[in-house]
Amino acid sequence: MRAIRKREAEPGLVLDELPVPTPEPDEVLIQVEAASICGTDLHISRWDQWSSERVHPPLTLGHELCGTVVAIGNSVRGVAEGDYVSAESHVTCGTCFHCRTGKAHMCERTQILGVDRNGGFADYVVVPASVVWQNDRAKLPPELACLQEPFGNAVFATATQDLAGRAVAVLGCGPVGLFAIAIARAFGAGRLLASDHVPYRLELARTLGADDVVNVDEVEDVPTWFVEHNEGVGMGIVFEMSGALRAIEDAFGIVRHGGHVVLFGIPARPATIDIAESLIFKNLTVSAVNGREIWETWYTTRWLLEHGVVDLRPLITAELPLERFEEGFERLESGEACKIVLRPNGVGA
Ligand SMILES: [Zn+2]
Ligand SMILES: [Zn+2]
Repeated sequence: MRAIRKREAEPGLVLDELPVPTPEPDEVLIQVEAASICGTDLHISRWDQWSSERVHPPLTLGHELCGTVVAIGNSVRGVAEGDYVSAESHVTCGTCFHCRTGKAHMCERTQILGVDRNGGFADYVVVPASVVWQNDRAKLPPELACLQEPFGNAVFATATQDLAGRAVAVLGCGPVGLFAIAIARAFGAGRLLASDHVPYRLELARTLGADDVVNVDEVEDVPTWFVEHNEGVGMGIVFEMSGALRAIEDAFGIVRHGGHVVLFGIPARPATIDIAESLIFKNLTVSAVNGREIWETWYTTRWLLEHGVVDLRPLITAELPLERFEEGFERLESGEACKIVLRPNGVGA
């Protein structure tokens, strides 16, 4: 089979030829139908500091996937050959404090598909049966079914808040920021404002329901822009989805007193926050959010997507065969793309 791999501890990826893996007793073999590229994959491809410390080549990338089960291990129950499935990307230990108290997304022994073990940028992938999620093919085609994994991050980030009628800001319009905009609109956000520095993404933010958008490179004072576009008041909830240091600092100026800041974007360096002025004197609540609550967010995600409450189609920039993965990575690096979906087994575009 073919697989997109980090073969050596160096920048770049290659399309390799490998034997089709055999599932262990508790695993299943999935013929991959769709696998979307994530920012994490770009980091691993570039071989930045994080990935060079975390990833041990050789490794097949890809953690946002769906496909058909074609073989199962002999102790697997509840998954059968022919099932049309997606996968939770976090393979958790099941025995630590967090796993045993229903907080498996905080498992410290988690292994991530396509990061710590072989992933889905391949014709076939083996995953533990415990991470399999059943899809309904009639309601969710492969190019959307694979997006449940990243969309679940936005579901989790927004689920902490009651959005109906509130003034909501989303800073950073990458895929998860755009997902958050679509969710906020679907859940009845009052004023919905978004920022980024890429015009292409700001246009998508409008498409998904943002009332107004700002290019942070084009205004002097970003917090003032938000206040001016929200009837002179700070925003009730600010979702910081970019991880940019400037946006993190701006978030605390954009939020109103008594409001809520949700930090999701991951900064590369420590950020400086004035605790007295930005937090205490503002009576602020700050949440830091990572991952997806397993499996609760999957149920919400399925409901939102299957019923068309949120339509992710405008965010699929292209569907490409596996061998054109380099083109997909390049388009994402350019900023002129949102989600690129690889279709290993020849279906789609
Ligand atoms: Zn991802
Ligand atoms: Zn655990």
